[in-house]
Formats: sequence, C-alpha cells, structure tokens
Amino acid sequence: MTELIDGLYLQGEKIADTKAPHDVPIAQRWEQRKFNANLVNPANRRKLDVIVVGSGLAGGAAAASLGEQGYNVKCFFYQDSARRAHSIAAQGGINAAKNYRNDGDSVYRLFYDTVKGGDYRAREDNVYRLAEVSANIIDQCVAQGVPFAREYGGLLDNRSFGGVQVSRTFYARGQTGQQLLIGAYQALERQVHAGTVKEYRRHEMVELIVVDGRARGIVTRDMVTGKIDTHLADAVVLCTGGYGNVFFLSTNAMGCNATAIWRAYRKGAYFANPCYTQIHPTCIPQSGDFQSKLTLMSESLRNDGRIWVPKRAEDCDKDPREIPEEDRDYYLERIYPAFGNLVPRDIASRQAKNMCDEGRGVGPAIKERDAQGNERMMRRGVYLDFSEAIGRLGRDAVSARYGNLFEMYQRITGDDPYEVPMRIYPAVHYTMGGLWVDYDLESNIPGLYVAGEANFSDHGANRLGASALMQGLADGYFVLPDTMNDYLADMLREGKVDPDAPEIAEARRSVEDRVERLMALRGTRSVDDFHMALGRIMWEYCGMERRDEGLREAIGQIRALKEEFWRDARITGEAMELNQALEKAGRLLDFFELAELMCIDALHRRESCGGHFRAESQTPEGEALRHDDEFLYVAAWEWGGENQPPILHKEDLIYKDIELKQRSYK
Ligand SMILES: Cc1cc2nc3c(=O)[nH]c(=O)nc-3n(C[C@H](O)[C@H](O)[C@H](O)COP(=O)(O)OP(=O)(O)OC[C@H]3O[C@@H](n4cnc5c(N)ncnc54)[C@H](O)[C@@H]3O)c2cc1C
Repeated sequence: MTELIDGLYLQGEKIADTKAPHDVPIAQRWEQRKFNANLVNPANRRKLDVIVVGSGLAGGAAAASLGEQGYNVKCFFYQDSARRAHSIAAQGGINAAKNYRNDGDSVYRLFYDTVKGGDYRAREDNVYRLAEVSANIIDQCVAQGVPFAREYGGLLDNRSFGGVQVSRTFYARGQTGQQLLIGAYQALERQVHAGTVKEYRRHEMVELIVVDGRARGIVTRDMVTGKIDTHLADAVVLCTGGYGNVFFLSTNAMGCNATAIWRAYRKGAYFANPCYTQIHPTCIPQSGDFQSKLTLMSESLRNDGRIWVPKRAEDCDKDPREIPEEDRDYYLERIYPAFGNLVPRDIASRQAKNMCDEGRGVGPAIKERDAQGNERMMRRGVYLDFSEAIGRLGRDAVSARYGNLFEMYQRITGDDPYEVPMRIYPAVHYTMGGLWVDYDLESNIPGLYVAGEANFSDHGANRLGASALMQGLADGYFVLPDTMNDYLADMLREGKVDPDAPEIAEARRSVEDRVERLMALRGTRSVDDFHMALGRIMWEYCGMERRDEGLREAIGQIRALKEEFWRDARITGEAMELNQALEKAGRLLDFFELAELMCIDALHRRESCGGHFRAESQTPEGEALRHDDEFLYVAAWEWGGENQPPILHKEDLIYKDIELKQRSYK
C-alpha cells in the first residue's frame, strides 16, 4: 500500500480478471469458458438458493433463467410489480449484430464500435462476448412475442444509433424497454407459477451479508410495514440498475438508487470507474428550480432530426422557423461530416454545451454559476429539427417512427414538434461505472454477482445508445446462467451457511441502528432539499466538464453537506410504516459517500475519455484527450473504512484484438 495520494486515497495491489481463457482466440473464449465451468446436475439445483435483487431486464432475465434451470430463486425489488422496474422507461432500441440490412455489420464490428465508443476503456473479452450473444437476444425476445417493429416485407426493422455507421438497432416504436420487460416479466412469472422463483415486492435491500468472505444473503426492509428481515442463500446477484440519481436531476426514475451496490462496496466489493457518467444529449431542458426529473427524447430521433443553433447570437431570440437555412449552424454535421448528427452521446453533449457556452443556446435563459462561481444567465438549449425529414418522408412516416415521443414532447412543453423544432439539452442519463466484476460477472466477493447497469463491465467511458438493453439481457439470459453454476457447484460441497453466524446478526443490527439514528433526526430541512443540494454540487463540479480545482471544491462541499444533514435533516413519520422520507434518507446517505468517491475518481483520472471530460486534457479542437501511457486501466476502488481514504486497485486494460487509437468521428 502507498502513502496517501493527493490527500485523498491510497493505492493497493493491481488486480486482473482470471476467468476469461486467454489460451484461445477471443472468438472462442466464451465457448471455452462455458465448457470449462463446472455444472450442477438438475436434481441438485433445487437444493441451491440464489437471491436476485432487481427485476429489470438484467434481474428479470437472470431470475427467470436461473429458475428455469431449477435453482431456488428469490427475487427482490422495490416496485409493486416486477414489470415496473426502470428498464420500462427505455425508448429507442436494442443493438444486435444480425446484419439484416446487409450493410457491413458483424460481431467484430459491434465489438469494435463498442470498444471505440467507450473510448478504449472497456475490457475486450467482455465486450466481444456481448457482441457475440447479441443476436441470440433478438431470437429469444421474438420467441417470447416481443413486438419489434417490422418493415413492409414483414422482416424486423432496424435503425441507427450514435457512434456507428450501420443500422443494427431493433426497436418497438419508442417503447422498446417496456416491450422487452414484458417479455422478461412473462418468463419470470412462468417461473413464479412453476414454484422456482419467489417474488418479494416492495422490499428494499439495505445490507449485504458476507460470512467467511462469501456473499451469503441480504437484509431487507419491507417498505410497506417497515419490517427488517434477513434472507440467506448460496449466491447473491445484484441487478439494481444505475446511480445517475446522485445528480438529483436525471432521466432516471426518482426511485433509482445506489444502495444495494454501495452496501456491497462497504462490505468489500470493488467499485469500478465510479466517475464514468453518461450525459445524454437529447433531453428536454430543465424548466425550473423545483423540478425533480428530466425527460429523455430518445437518441433514435437523431436518425432523422437535425441539430442546430443560430449562427449569430443575436438570432437566438427569434422564432426558429424565421431563421433562414444560411443562418443556421448544423454544427454536428459541420464538425463531424462522417457521423453527423449520429456521433456518440458524449461528443454530441459536449458540443451542445460548447454552443451554449459560446452564447448561441436557445430557449429561456436560466440562472447558473460559471467556473469562478459567479452567477450568470445562460440559454441552455439547441434545436432538434424535423422539418427536413417531414418534407422528405411525409408527416405520417415521421409519426409512425416517433409519434409517441412527439406526443410526449408536446405534452411536456406545449410545443408541437411537427411545426416547431424541439429544444433539447444534455442531462445525466446512465452510469458506466458500477461494481467491479470479472468475466463471469462475479465481483471480488465470492458468490456476489453483478449484472446490468449495476456493474461496470461493457461500456468503458461512454456507452453507445441501445447497448444497455443489450447488456442487461445478455447478462441475465446468457451469461449468468452459464457462469454461476461454476460457483454453485462448489457451494453444493461447501454446504449451507450457519444461520447463527455472527455476521448475520451484525448485518441486521447495523440496519436497525441506522434506521433508529435516521428516525431521531428532527431538524428543519427535508431529505429532498439535501438531495437537491448534492445534485447541484455534482452537476456543477462533476458534470459535463471536470477540473482539478472544482473537484476538490466538490469534495469539501459534499462532506460539509453530509455533516449538515446529520445536524438539520428532518425525517417525518414512523419507522414501522410506509415512510418515504426514511427510504430517501437511507439512499441519500449512500449517495453522499458515492458522490465523494466519484469526485475522487474523476480527480485522479487526469485525462479525458468518453463521458469523463477533464478541462485540463483536451485536443486543440476541444475533443477528449486520453493519456493511455498513464490511464489505460480500470480504476477499482476498495472501501477503506468509515472516514478512511479509499484504496485504488488498477486493472490494466490489454488491447490485443483492437488497435488503440485516438477516437475520431470526422
Ligand atoms: C429514459 C431512459 C431511456 C433509455 N433508453 C434506452 C434505450 O433505448 N436503449 C438502451 O439500450 N438503454 C436505454 N436506457 C438505459 C437502460 O434502460 C438501462 O440501463 C437498463 O434498462 C437498466 O436495466 P437493469 O436491469 O440493469 O436495471 P433496472 O431496470 O433499473 O432495474 C433495477 C431493479 O433493481 C431493483 N432495485 C434497485 N435497488 C434496489 C434495492 N436496494 N433493493 C431492492 N431492489 C432494488 C429495482 O426495483 C428494479 O427492479 C434508457 C434509460 C432511461 C433512463
């Protein structure tokens, strides 16, 4: 272990994935790994208990598949139905290397696009496997009856998403997540009916139980009655989604949280690349101070919508329809002629910010602070214009593709996008960071698996559009069912955990103590008020552009805010009842700590890559400038203890099948 670095963290041993078989070429590794893994015979599977936390695409698919195999599965989630997991919100589509368009797609190209899109900060083996199983996902979902859009001849239709030059995105209007989730839900309910899966609705995981170094269960709080329980198992799978809500304002649902993965982090699981956050370029701009949610306008709109701002700042007040073509700056088409409006999200977001920083943003001016902390009024919006597409394709064709998104936009803003260009601006959307996992999706705590957005696995420093649904379903339907058996075969020999193990009682006691401490808070400020304040700090200093000075300032402010929370927060209601203030307070405490780790991670990574843009590291054209000589690694952080510095473990990223280059979309 090193001395304290930057006054903030320590550096520990290097780590590596040891599960991907490197003695065979990349295209054979998954097959080989599956073959090498131990199996559990069907009669033995029902003796083994698996806890799955989460019922979104990753958790729903994993629980259904493990149940189908015959394991004894308990599935926990905090919504009142498994079908309400946040995956339901996904709009635009899911990628797969089917090459239905015969436009040059292949497994290798999907692999290449994803690694390049992630700015060369993802592990090759995992991404290759993702591309490989992508085609199976579509077959699986079609067999379940997912109503993917079809074209005139009856074949499945495809569209394009950012960062690629092929059409490989399968979709169901603007409701792809919902339709895929209904498919996973049906598979899950089939297992519930068969008796292999038991669902625990409105149950929040509030602690992980680790006994003798292995994940052995969870502590839950029943959100309706307040009852705290322990649940034991032979393995635990966390599929609890992303942590974008640390920013308070995001496209995530209000309930999205980091509690499950943060509790696991505090029990020893490494947290990888926490600072990698995706800011999505096409969201409806914020309209007021008391807003709690931002709305995504799917990236699929960039297939036909053209993004522009006025060439001159003095035109920004005008009705956009009155600004002639020659006075418009279609800046993405101008700067990136090869990819145009379909550059990856990180690039599109940054350029939208640049246009607004230049004073060419549109829409009402909002109050904000500049890098020096001075208040200023800025317009934060750019146009997404469909007039050319409506002229080319006709209103009906545009409506068939995007009708529900247009309707949603009109309901929220009052503007009709068939007539007036949409106004959009970037917003926090997705987190590429998450718990560190190996090729088997197992964390460094044996028996703790992590899938979907909750892990860090496949997207490097920037996720390509339509790849999260692909990853969640790949993990749940195709990876975990083939890797967990290797561990569970051992657990058959190891035997059940002793229910009297002191670690179990201790985990439960720590939850009860925390609830008691929180319920004693009778200050003056609401939990939401603190969360909003945290979000403002994070957006300002750890948002689209990060600087050394700003990140240090943020860490100080976060610590002070957390102290203030313990002094002045007010938790209303009782512990043994439905109590949203209490739920939110628990989640916020975890967000405070995670936010600090995000800032430390962002501070230590003195390079720009993908969604992590350090102002000090940019090319003369203002693009992200990586420093592969210093930062070609996954940063896996270990909890150092209460009020102790975290410990950084580096996993070197080794590129053998893809050449490492500076990203270019020009
Ligand atoms: C508005 C929007 C649109 C999107 N559109 C697309 C798209 O078109 N294409 C694409 O590929 N991706 C898209 N994404 C991203 C994608 O939807 C998500 O990354 C993905 O669905 C996450 O799936 P998941 O299974 O990992 O988690 P989720 O679907 O978020 O599920 C999390 C589950 O964990 C449970 N849970 C969480 N914490 C706890 C706890 N402590 N205790 C108990 N249960 C817990 C929840 O109840 C839930 O069941 C979009 C995201 C958003 C927000």
